Amino acid sequence: MKILNRLDFLIEEDRNKTNIKLLANSIEHGDISHAYLFYGSSMELLYRLALSFSASINCQLGGCGSCTVCKNTLKGVYPNLNVVEAEGNVLTIDKIVELQRFMNMSSYMPGKKICIIKNAEIMNNQASNRLLKTLEEPPDDSIFILLTEDISATLPTVVSRCLVFNWNFKLSSINMTGTDFTILGSSLDEGIKTMVKSSQKTSTSPLNLCSEIISILKGMEEDIKINQNKELKEIKNSGGSRDDTGRYLKILKSKHKRQINKFYRLGMNYVFDIISTWLTDIQAVKLNAEDKVLNYKQNYFFIKKNFKNVKIDETFHLLETIEKNRDYLNFSICLELALDNIFLQFQNLYC
Ligand SMILES: [Zn+2]
Repeated sequence: MKILNRLDFLIEEDRNKTNIKLLANSIEHGDISHAYLFYGSSMELLYRLALSFSASINCQLGGCGSCTVCKNTLKGVYPNLNVVEAEGNVLTIDKIVELQRFMNMSSYMPGKKICIIKNAEIMNNQASNRLLKTLEEPPDDSIFILLTEDISATLPTVVSRCLVFNWNFKLSSINMTGTDFTILGSSLDEGIKTMVKSSQKTSTSPLNLCSEIISILKGMEEDIKINQNKELKEIKNSGGSRDDTGRYLKILKSKHKRQINKFYRLGMNYVFDIISTWLTDIQAVKLNAEDKVLNYKQNYFFIKKNFKNVKIDETFHLLETIEKNRDYLNFSICLELALDNIFLQFQNLYC
């Protein structure tokens, strides 16, 4: 099977089949454009897609996946491939000059010269204009693939030179570097157990658990903000021209806002995952399954003891509520309200 038909780093829902079909057809019919812009909410996935596309272009078999061209291109190390990435927060002109030098050099290898530009939105004006010239008069046999998570921050004149592909990725496939939700997970697990055990003594515990989870998330948000402020300060003190600095700051601020949004969506999704896992485990125990089929078999006796009278319909109902809230995450959601509601429903399962 060809690489573009495989893409095993994508889950089924993330395949964006129309996009892939268009790309595969263009290779097959030899009408590949000289400039592409891939945008979507995960740089990591966009990059892997760009590598898969590049390998398929240069492989003599259209992306067999096993020849040297395929293997090395997929790793991002092939003589005909140049990956451009900013070293800090800004993609500067020297990177574009370097890129132009590479693209103008004659290559030893057959096939096209391909340049992938990561985070294209952080190119400064100078760099964008320089790239624009190359995109207007591209060297023979060269292909540019620009990647961005924020098309609105990418210079419109650059965008208009590219064939734009929008990739929709499911939330579960997006990860956020540097963010570890493990603490959130273990607190939630412990919190659920405490809530269930103390159900007789106090009726406020679901709300306590809710505020505990929110406060963990808020604490993590603070850590992200500290790093963001560092970034802002660095740019302010970088000594660049006023215009450029102003523009970076604007881009950076909108990037930061997206980061925080993404963080909450991922965090909440993680919380929902854990509660759903509890629910399916409760259902399994209720249906007399053995402990080994549980997601968390160490909870087997706990569930058996505390969820004796659970109504299985209620567990399905709660799973539906969670899924609905997951959908809302893509728009906006009042975290506290959603969680309160879910924990209260959860409490009704064992009361
Ligand atoms: Zn190949």
